[in-house]
Amino acid sequence: MVYNTAMDTPLSEVLRLHETHKKALDRLKIETVRDLLYHFPVRYGDTTQITMIGSLAEGEATNVYGQISKLKTGKTFKGKMSKATATLTDETGSISITWFNQPYLAKMFPEGRLVKVTGKITSHNGKLTFNNPKMEAVNSVPIGVGDSLFGTGKEHTLYPVYPESKGITSNWIYHAVQKILRQGILDKVVDPIPKEILNKYNLPSIQTALVWIHAPKKEADALSARKRFAFEEIFFIQLKKQASRASRDSLPSFKIKPDQKSVDSFIDRFPFKPTTSQTKAIKAILKDFKNPHAMSRLLEGDVGSGKTAVAAATVYATTITRPDNQDFGHLQTAYMVPTEILAKQHFENFISFFEHMHIQIGLITGSGCYKFPSKTDPTKPTKISRAQLLKWVENGEIPILIGTHSLIQKSVSFKNLAYVIIDEQHRFGTAQRGKLAQKEGFAPHLLSMTATPIPRTLALTIYGDLDLTLLDQMPTGRKPIITELVLPNKREETYEKIKKEMKAGRQVYVICPRINEPDPEKENALNVKSVKEEAKRLKEKIFKDKNIDILHSKMTPAEKDEVMIDFEKGKTDILVATSVVEVGVNVPNATIIIIEGAERFGLAQLHQLRGRVIRSNHQAYCYIFSDSKTDKTIERLKALKTSKNGFELSEFDLKLRGAGELYGKKQWGISDLGMEAIKNIKMVEAARTEAKEIIDKSIDKYPDIKNEIEKRKDIHFE
Ligand code: ADP
Ligand code: MG
Repeated sequence: MVYNTAMDTPLSEVLRLHETHKKALDRLKIETVRDLLYHFPVRYGDTTQITMIGSLAEGEATNVYGQISKLKTGKTFKGKMSKATATLTDETGSISITWFNQPYLAKMFPEGRLVKVTGKITSHNGKLTFNNPKMEAVNSVPIGVGDSLFGTGKEHTLYPVYPESKGITSNWIYHAVQKILRQGILDKVVDPIPKEILNKYNLPSIQTALVWIHAPKKEADALSARKRFAFEEIFFIQLKKQASRASRDSLPSFKIKPDQKSVDSFIDRFPFKPTTSQTKAIKAILKDFKNPHAMSRLLEGDVGSGKTAVAAATVYATTITRPDNQDFGHLQTAYMVPTEILAKQHFENFISFFEHMHIQIGLITGSGCYKFPSKTDPTKPTKISRAQLLKWVENGEIPILIGTHSLIQKSVSFKNLAYVIIDEQHRFGTAQRGKLAQKEGFAPHLLSMTATPIPRTLALTIYGDLDLTLLDQMPTGRKPIITELVLPNKREETYEKIKKEMKAGRQVYVICPRINEPDPEKENALNVKSVKEEAKRLKEKIFKDKNIDILHSKMTPAEKDEVMIDFEKGKTDILVATSVVEVGVNVPNATIIIIEGAERFGLAQLHQLRGRVIRSNHQAYCYIFSDSKTDKTIERLKALKTSKNGFELSEFDLKLRGAGELYGKKQWGISDLGMEAIKNIKMVEAARTEAKEIIDKSIDKYPDIKNEIEKRKDIHFE
């Protein structure tokens, strides 16, 4: 049998599709039978909990579906409150709805809108009504609502709710899936997970799981199916990562065995004593360097934990190693960072680390190339032509090349590239990283560095091909940041404190969750501060005599660089930005950060943001501004005051808010369902162990799995 061809059939061959369906399916990236069958419900509704309007009774708390009509807005009898009324109708009757003090609801639910209304029924002058019920717009009445009342039986009471898109309702998806299942697809599907593994972990077969996930008879079946697909997703990510690791490990690499004394004396030149974490990390890397195959290691450490020093010490070890069979020259290092500013900062750092060695250091970015030392002034770098730089890199005369993604252009070739460092690695795509990390038939040692604190289970999954080293210790002597949660009544007071710090010369970041004016149509957005609006407000009302600038993701890289350079030089006092400042930019004089709408960020993200201001010996402050009124949110934010460690906070995030919400699909290439598995360390470890066993035995013994890995090629990449 050809592997799973039935699953790869285009949907248009098995379903009659209108133009609107086609467009909507495109948007949902659903092309084949497999795509549709793997488009899982986000949740299940229970038809027995839905009441038809005709059978409502006073005092009942209930869910009703219907259409809005006869919308009226005005004031209450005494004129104090705004009031809106509407009628809700289904095929069995009508009921009125009244909203007090929520005039925007009328805007959100115009006449003709289908809605789900949840609330308690009260009686007013003998007429039944909903007062301030919970409202939710829907695109269709759920599947089976009619059936359960008028149909034959009640056995099918759970109905799936699918992610929708304009032109396609959850209902449509349900019927399309059922139609395909009826056509006999299940007889033709090969299970991508071996039977032994399914049995071992008590997971249903793909046939059972597909039925259960789309039309469960009971909740336990739905859960069991979800567990299976979550496992499947993590299992295949692991297989893929470990297969790529195995192929990297099979390639030769440069052995780097430096004289330990020499490395130690390089480290002794640092203007500080390395932390125990840093020393351990350097040791682990030097050990990897001695292996016949290349290192594949991830160095994870909070902002400010000193990753650069680890990089420098190990670059030194590389640089003092001679190429094979040569008693002159140096092995080469490529050091890639995500922005031009960072590239320049690192270039300057490395000049100070290496100037005593009299070697050449190169810088390559989109806007130009530099080399240290200059011929005319050996204490300074000089601008050189790209062609010249490339020539010296190619003939091996420049052992250390720092740059942006300009580094991975085809024209850049190294003579003896032994070591690749990718800083802020999460900012690069897998393809970009791969380009540096592997040449034909040869693999340089790879050190990936990141400050993104993520839960251990997520790290084990997305970095399944890397060995992990944590820098979980901050350099001593640094003043811990003072973090305060600022509720609305303390705003003014806080601005006064900040003004005092600014008088002493310090600079400020203000982080807002949005870029533009909020969209008044989206009620939730109204309370969210935007960068542009907040910058204007601060200038007009709070910091009248200060220079305020803005920075956000819609700006071009050149514009961003310009803003950052002004800020770095102190021309700007206050920088109002979206969370783009997360990138490791170093402005030691900026010691205050205000985060607006903090409840919208994950704790780990907030922690990273505050890391921006712990860059010097001045006392740093982080003000978490929140207008949230819920105790739970405030409790959550308080964890920032007690926890100093990003990893700890990321675990909190996972527990308190769930993975899907915080670490989206887009960022890690994992579906919301797969993210459910991330909460379960046992499942992640099981998937990892099983994948490793298969790769160790050789993937060629598992043709179905090999096929499936191929199929999933571009799905699971960040
Ligand atoms: P990150 O891990 O965010 O890349 P950096 O490498 O930029 O951190 O280091 C942040 C700052 O801390 C730098 O100014 C660096 O010189 C300093 N630093 C690094 N290690 C130590 C240490 N062990 N003791 C004191 N300061 C250190
Ligand atoms: Mg850094």
